[in-house]
Amino acid sequence: MKKVDMLGYKDKLHAIRSRLRGDVSTMAEVALRKNGMEGGDSGGMPIHMAELGSDNFEQEFTLSLLETEEDTLTLIEAALERIQDGSFGQCIQCDGAIPKMRLNAIPYTPVCIRCAEAMENR
Ligand SMILES: [Zn+2]
Repeated sequence: MKKVDMLGYKDKLHAIRSRLRGDVSTMAEVALRKNGMEGGDSGGMPIHMAELGSDNFEQEFTLSLLETEEDTLTLIEAALERIQDGSFGQCIQCDGAIPKMRLNAIPYTPVCIRCAEAMENR
């Protein structure tokens, strides 16, 4: 992939990342508030999942959603690293090129369509 193309995806990845991060902190805040743990100035502080231990189902549910977003953030970080080392756009499974159509839809995907389908059908 051309460097200039990679930079376009880099911008996209940054945009998705900041949006996800915004959502994550908002949702964590809501989960905390529901559990009556607000108070003090927790504003802007990173929240550690372990500190939120609770048997409250609704909170568990919200936090499991957060985990999925964390996974996406991890994929985004990995994609940004691949842009750094120039391997972005290449499938990490089979080394084949990931079609641009797929990258436009999911810029942080590490695998091509064929490998993604193979993983889903496992
Ligand atoms: Zn592949």
